[in-house]
Amino acid sequence: MFEGLTGRLGDIFDKLRRRGALSEEDVSAALREVRVALLEADVALPVVKQFVSQVKERAVGQEVLKSVTPGQQVIKIVHDNLVEMLGEGADINLNAAAPVPILMVGLQGSGKTTSTAKIALRLKTKERKKVLMASLDVRRPAAQEQLKVLGEQTGVATLPIVPGQDPVAIAKRAIETGRLEGYDVVMLDTAGRLAIDEELMAEVAAVRDATKPVETLLVADAMTGQDAVTVATNFNDKVGITGIVLTRIDGDARGGAALSMRQITGKPIKLLGVGEKIDALEPFHPDRIAGRILG
Ligand code: GDP
Repeated sequence: MFEGLTGRLGDIFDKLRRRGALSEEDVSAALREVRVALLEADVALPVVKQFVSQVKERAVGQEVLKSVTPGQQVIKIVHDNLVEMLGEGADINLNAAAPVPILMVGLQGSGKTTSTAKIALRLKTKERKKVLMASLDVRRPAAQEQLKVLGEQTGVATLPIVPGQDPVAIAKRAIETGRLEGYDVVMLDTAGRLAIDEELMAEVAAVRDATKPVETLLVADAMTGQDAVTVATNFNDKVGITGIVLTRIDGDARGGAALSMRQITGKPIKLLGVGEKIDALEPFHPDRIAGRILG
């Protein structure tokens, strides 16, 4: 397992055992460890560089407080900077005329369908919204059925399955049904692929143009580390995302993907998937992920 950064920085500063302002030398030694820790936590290299230079600027010359060791002081600066760069979480935006379309996008296996049902259940129980879910996945025959089963489990309505329709036609039917039957929110679960491809992006963009979603949420698996960043960059450039749902936070991923995705796309991480159960969804709290990245 990883040796926590906290321990490693403590070791460096134990050797110094002196007080006064943090010198450039002290800070540089500590930042070498910070750099390694961030890379081990799967943070993308350009983000690591930016982070290290920000911390250096803040730390050099700071007086070490009497109550803490220099190591603790640097850790606090690193932690605070991480929290700032991770940004605040944000609520799902429902600020539009009903039915509010929410588009769910991401790779196959990222947890997209599960997250669609988790968010629908949350909107239903916490915000008392009437939610309709529709699967636009016509490639995997089981996908529409999977969403229907999740709908039955959660008591959230799903759009009746009509074989032979393409994703745009299903999406339009979902919005129309939402309008006619008085739904507040229509969640559109798009098809994933094993990897980014042009056909997938074109399909998702066509659904976006036909439905004008208020939220386009990228579902990304925290365990996929740096790949998640590539996926987020692609979806953001080609489709335009409004936020990120990071899944499998219950696993042992270090969470570096969160920092990279936030920095590179500039889009907020809105929710965390924390398990397979249908209520295993939590708001994003930057300090929790910062603690995890630091180890
Ligand atoms: P999709 O292909 O992107 O729609 O992925 P699914 O929603 O079908 O999820 C794939 C698998 O990941 C399923 O077995 C889910 O139960 C599981 N899964 C989804 N989200 C999480 C999560 O946050 N934590 C864990 N441990 N498993 C998850």
